[in-house]
Amino acid sequence: MSADQTYIIIGAGQAGGWTAKTLRDQGFEGRVVIFGDENFPPHERPPLSKEVLLGNAEKEICLLWPPGTLEDADIEMRLGTRVSEIAPDEHTLTLEDGKTVAWDKLMIATGGRATRLPVEGADLDGVYTLRTIDDADAIRSKMTPDATVLVIGAGWIGLEVAAAARKQEATAIVVELADRVCARALSPEMSQWIHDLHVRNGVDIRCGVSFDHFEGDSRLQRAVMSDGWVIDCDIAVVGIGLTPNVELATAAGLATDNGIIVDDKGQTSHPDIYAAGDNANHPNPLLGRRIRLESWENAQNQAICAAKAMLGGEDSYAEIPWFWSDQYDANIQLMGLPEEWDETAVRGDRDAGEFVEFYLKDGKLEGAAAINNPRDLRFTRRMMTSGKTFNASDLADPELKLQKLLKG
Ligand SMILES: Cc1cc2nc3c(=O)[nH]c(=O)nc-3n(C[C@H](O)[C@H](O)[C@H](O)COP(=O)(O)OP(=O)(O)OC[C@H]3O[C@@H](n4cnc5c(N)ncnc54)[C@H](O)[C@@H]3O)c2cc1C
Repeated sequence: MSADQTYIIIGAGQAGGWTAKTLRDQGFEGRVVIFGDENFPPHERPPLSKEVLLGNAEKEICLLWPPGTLEDADIEMRLGTRVSEIAPDEHTLTLEDGKTVAWDKLMIATGGRATRLPVEGADLDGVYTLRTIDDADAIRSKMTPDATVLVIGAGWIGLEVAAAARKQEATAIVVELADRVCARALSPEMSQWIHDLHVRNGVDIRCGVSFDHFEGDSRLQRAVMSDGWVIDCDIAVVGIGLTPNVELATAAGLATDNGIIVDDKGQTSHPDIYAAGDNANHPNPLLGRRIRLESWENAQNQAICAAKAMLGGEDSYAEIPWFWSDQYDANIQLMGLPEEWDETAVRGDRDAGEFVEFYLKDGKLEGAAAINNPRDLRFTRRMMTSGKTFNASDLADPELKLQKLLKG
C-alpha cells in the first residue's frame, strides 16, 4: 500500500463512491481520485424513482455520505469531468479536455445508461428516461393531477414511475411488450399480484402491447402503438432497461460480454484494472454462473470487495443477489435469481398483501419473492446457502418457524 501510488476511480455513482471510501477505510495512504461526469458527489439512485419523484425529498437524500465526508478523507473529486480513453499499457487515462492522467490502479465504475427507443419522436420534449437526478427533477415537475403519464415498459422503474404518477393524481397508463409485468424477474403469480396492485391504484396497464412511435409538434402529444392504438399523453417515461457503460473498457481492449468481464475479486482482464457495479459481469459462486446485476446492494458490496482486492485482499465476492422495490404501500423484495423451479410455496396471506413466495427445485430453495414481509425474506438467504432441502408444505405453514426448518 504505497503512499506514492495513485488509484483512480471512473464514475461517481454508488460503486465509485464505495470504492474510494473503502480504499481509505482500509488504510490506503496514496492519492485517491474520482472522475465523475455528473455534477453531483457520489450518490445512490433508488430514491430517484421513490421519494424524489413523489416530491417527498430533495436530491440530497441520494448522497452516500454527508457533505464533506470524502473531502475529509482526502479523496479528490473531479466532478463534471468525463474520461474519454484508457491506455492500460501506459497506465494513463485521457479526459475529455485532452489532459492525460497517470494511475497505478484503476476502477471502472461507470454503471449504465437507460436504454433509449430508436423510434420516430423519441427526441420530442416530454419523452424521458429515468436514471439521473436531472431526469427525476424533470419528470417530477411534469407529474401534475391534470397530466397523462405514459410509461413504456412494466419493469421496476416503469412501475415505480406509474405508482408515483398515481400518488400525484396524474392519469397513468403502462404499456408492456411482454405478456406480464416484470416477466424476467417474477413468477407469473407474482406478476399478477403486482399487476392487480396497479389496477387497484387506478393505473391502466396493458401487456402484450407493441409500442411504435411518438408524435407531436415540438413536444410530445401522443404515442402510437403498432396495432394503431393512439394514446394522448403529456409525458412518456421509457423504462425498457439499462445499457451497461462498457465503451471505455472495450476500446481499451479489456474483455467485455454483457458488461466488463471481471473475476470474483472485481479484477478485469488487465491486472491493474477493476470494475464493479451495474457494468460488471462477474462470477457468482453461490449461483454457479456469471451474472451482471443492476442493484443497490451489488453496487455497494461488489465495490467494497474490489477495493479491498485493489489493496491485495483475497476475499471473493459471493452473495445471494437481493433487490427491492417500493410501489404504493407494497414493499417488494426478491432473493436470488431463480431460473427454474418445480414447486412453489406461499407463506402468508396473498389477499392481505403480506406473504413470501418460495421457489424450490428438487427441494432446494432457488429463491424467494416477498410482499411486505422483509423479515422472512431476509432469512431465506441463510436457507439458500445452507445446502438443505425443504418441504413446500412446511414452508407454507405459518406455524412452523423458518429458523426451526433451517435447524431441522
Ligand atoms: C431510478 C432508479 C431506481 C432504482 N431503484 C433501485 C431499488 O429500489 N433497489 C435496487 O436494488 N436497485 C435500484 N436501482 C439500481 C441501483 O441504483 C444501481 O444498481 C446502482 O446505482 C448502480 O451503481 P453504479 O455505481 O454501478 O452505477 P451508477 O450509479 O450509474 O454510477 C456510474 C457513474 O459513472 C458515470 N460515468 C459513466 N461513464 C463515465 C465516464 N466516461 N467518465 C466519468 N464518469 C462516467 C455515470 O454518469 C454515473 O454517474 C435503481 C436505479 C435507478 C436508476
